[in-house]
Amino acid sequence: MAGKRDYYEILGISKSASDKEIKNAFRSLARKHHPDKNPDDPDSERLFKEVQEAYAVLSNPDERRKFDTFGHERPGGSPFGPGGFQSVNINFDDLFGGGGFESIFSSLFGGASGGRQRRQRGSDLLVHHQVPFQAAMDGIEDSIEIDVLKSCDDCSGLGSKSPDEIRECPACDGRGRIQRIERVGPFTQQVVSDCASCRGSGRIIPNPCTRCQGEGRASRTKKIQFHVPPGIDSGTRLRMSGHGEAAKGNRGEPGHLYIEIQVEEHEWFERDRSDLLMALPISYVDLVLGTSVEISHIDGQNLKIKIPAGSKPGDTISLRGRGLPSQRSRIGRGSVMVLLKLDIPDKIPRSLKKQLEEIRDELSINSDMLDEKIRSEARQRRQS
Ligand SMILES: [Zn+2]
Ligand SMILES: [Zn+2]
Repeated sequence: MAGKRDYYEILGISKSASDKEIKNAFRSLARKHHPDKNPDDPDSERLFKEVQEAYAVLSNPDERRKFDTFGHERPGGSPFGPGGFQSVNINFDDLFGGGGFESIFSSLFGGASGGRQRRQRGSDLLVHHQVPFQAAMDGIEDSIEIDVLKSCDDCSGLGSKSPDEIRECPACDGRGRIQRIERVGPFTQQVVSDCASCRGSGRIIPNPCTRCQGEGRASRTKKIQFHVPPGIDSGTRLRMSGHGEAAKGNRGEPGHLYIEIQVEEHEWFERDRSDLLMALPISYVDLVLGTSVEISHIDGQNLKIKIPAGSKPGDTISLRGRGLPSQRSRIGRGSVMVLLKLDIPDKIPRSLKKQLEEIRDELSINSDMLDEKIRSEARQRRQS
């Protein structure tokens, strides 16, 4: 192909570059041109693909040798099939550290030898777990027991009675996948499917492990300990990396375990993020004269609620810094909001009734004042 750049030139390395140099060059260029970093630059997409193609070829010993010999004019056309190289999806994060991108490239070439099998992460698991309300205040060290597919102990996850008996699947050369060219009218396309002989595992096991029937995984009850942070709210999922199901055939990372937390209801508090709301029944006399009430609280210190004289039902008293710890900022706490409710006793003793009758006139609203009271109430109600 005319005008196609040399793979070594693209990666900026010499023809004698080591595998490590190739990988380092790829990693730094892929980071530079990654579409996530250059959202509005069409050039970067092209460059990112170009860098990927160069790496795909040069990181594969067979393909690198062919490229060294023939350049882009190798017999048989593009190693990527009739469509040429297609960009692959690489997470930006995978370009850092251990190199989570390599498995993607190792499976690109149909004819590559070496039998590198597909690596697949085990399944993620989700469990629901309830914690007492107090945990939202203090956090809690907790644990659960779950049945999870773990790598089988008897066969170390290999699935075979004896590890020596495992053979590479001859139908797919241990790749687990079969690649074939299909013709649709004038077009050809590459179709990749799981190998039927080995069901995609790439291996033949003549004598499967009796415990796991060759699966390599067995269900095991496992106790998992975890920390629930203060301020936790219902619906929050804690992620326990690597505590999910083991990968099939022990050839990949285990999945994640997600623990979705449900916080139990409190006897009287409702919750609004880090604020706690409650209603406090107060007698007419206490509202008129004012009083102070003390109740136990979840932070271990009693709540002292001062009700000023002349308070009205529906007034709210806010106690700052006595709510739950804030989960986001990890600094400070919310408020306790106390809504005052007028408490009318169901029954009163005869003697008290008599006393109330005696002061009734003094407490009642004078009929001359009634209209004005109604008007003033309406004004206040409409303002708020
Ligand atoms: Zn096979
Ligand atoms: Zn086993």
